[in-house]
Amino acid sequence: MATKTDAYLTHFRNIGIAAHIDAGKTTTTERILYYTGRLHTIGEVHDGAATMDWMEQERERGITITAAATTAKWTRSGQEYTVNIIDTPGHVDFTIEVERSMRVLDGAVAVFDASQGVEPQSETVWRQADRYGVPRIAFANKMDKTGASFELVVNDIRERLGAIPAPVQYPMGQESDFKGIIDIVRMRSYTYTNDLGTDIVEGDVPTEYADKVAEMRQALIEAAAEVDEELMMMYLEGEEPSVEQLVAALRKGTIEKKIFPVLCGSSLKNKGVQLLLDAVIDYLPNPLEVPAIRGTKENGEVKEFPASAEGDLAALAFKIMADPYVGRLTFVRVYSGTLKSGTYVYNASKDKRERVGRLLKMHANHREEVAELKAGELGAVIGLKDAGTGNTLIGDGDEHVLLESIDIPEPVIKLAIEPKTKADQEKMGVGLSRLAEEDPTFRVSTDPESGQTTIEGMGELHLEILVDRLKREYKVDANVGAPQVAYRETITKPVDVEGKFVRQSGGRGQFGHVKIKAEPMPPGSGFVFENAVVGGTVPREYIPAAQ
Ligand code: GDP
Repeated sequence: MATKTDAYLTHFRNIGIAAHIDAGKTTTTERILYYTGRLHTIGEVHDGAATMDWMEQERERGITITAAATTAKWTRSGQEYTVNIIDTPGHVDFTIEVERSMRVLDGAVAVFDASQGVEPQSETVWRQADRYGVPRIAFANKMDKTGASFELVVNDIRERLGAIPAPVQYPMGQESDFKGIIDIVRMRSYTYTNDLGTDIVEGDVPTEYADKVAEMRQALIEAAAEVDEELMMMYLEGEEPSVEQLVAALRKGTIEKKIFPVLCGSSLKNKGVQLLLDAVIDYLPNPLEVPAIRGTKENGEVKEFPASAEGDLAALAFKIMADPYVGRLTFVRVYSGTLKSGTYVYNASKDKRERVGRLLKMHANHREEVAELKAGELGAVIGLKDAGTGNTLIGDGDEHVLLESIDIPEPVIKLAIEPKTKADQEKMGVGLSRLAEEDPTFRVSTDPESGQTTIEGMGELHLEILVDRLKREYKVDANVGAPQVAYRETITKPVDVEGKFVRQSGGRGQFGHVKIKAEPMPPGSGFVFENAVVGGTVPREYIPAAQ
């Protein structure tokens, strides 16, 4: 149970910024780190000076690959909060990364491009958050862009995502005319008067917006009353709730995932990010407000681990990273108890006792060595040799329990790989196996007869990036063969088919044999066919249709 000493947890927010590529996740994250004082310059994203995307390929491609956890501080109503930002990738190829970050966060900010509304890819990210029961606030970004429309995002959330939007803000001007934001809950306006977004003039709601905003506030109170009985009673009696009562009801509805507060801004133009941070504190849950993580004992019984620094230790490893300076970093979220440096833990997934070396908290521009990580905290452990993604860490000597783990999907694409220089064969093997250790969806195998090495992963881009890393980090230049693909498909009925295919392309014929056996999965989870492919890529049209 949470004790008095666990009061610190009410000042914690573990959040992810979920968005599909290009919606502005990197810019928004960077601005958050700037306003929370962790970055001292605002650089254009990807300029390498001030960005979370620290890997070269990420900068080049504009994709966030690593699920790093970064700690920031934010002051709200005179109280200091710790906001841990768990980086969630937006590219569909990195589903596993999205999955494991969803697992360790308590709430998310879903970023949309206001000029595009809800795009098919943003829908995928939203459904993933649904699957993990993650409460969310929505941020209509790029309000400065031509075609930007706050209403479009709000309507799309209702119609395309089937969720109940609760707009808590309204933009003053849109597109190139975007000047500021009205807080509908408090009926205040915020006008931005400098480029850095640090000079903000607070005022009343300008008369030109008064009617519109009053109407929206009424709708907001009604939406809040739907999820809060006390507010409903007041509403029925014609009583106006106080700001605190309205915030509390919206918070409750958001945590219960019944409503989704919608905000707006322009990260690039530095408008709305501080108000977004306020909303993270106001509406997203602290670790005490989400269901306790559960584990399964050896006898099948379920054990709950409520968030408490004094409880039994329960932590989940969610990311392994090779670090050029300190070696292997294991990112963990501690759910219960306290993880202390220099102590032993038991890795229940691997059935191994392991020693915890040093512990680090990652800030945007520095690392902080700490003696312990308490329940609700995230950080990196140096010194764990065997822990892999999804492994459960519990107290040494404690009753054996496995936490709900992370589903690791099967790879969907494979290709042959060989070093350009034969002498690099061994170096390639070492590099590939290290990369595979970091990334459970990346597999390496070598045919014992032909000696041919094959790599498998979640998509062409995924493998391309790993081949690129092999070159940069292990200095092995490699040639790869044509990809063989297992298609991802969402099906509604079981499939069990087998057939031959022939394909002519560019004068070359490809022949193959495909075997598909599949069970339906929950909607939105995507799907991987179990197949056997000989001789190249199976074109989609040759895959027998699901019945
Ligand atoms: P990510 O792929 O989601 O991380 O998106 P980025 O943050 O890299 O942004 C993608 C592109 O959109 C970049 O060219 C940004 O400069 C641009 N961008 C981000 N936020 C805004 C914004 O608020 N307004 C406009 N006009 N462009 C933005």
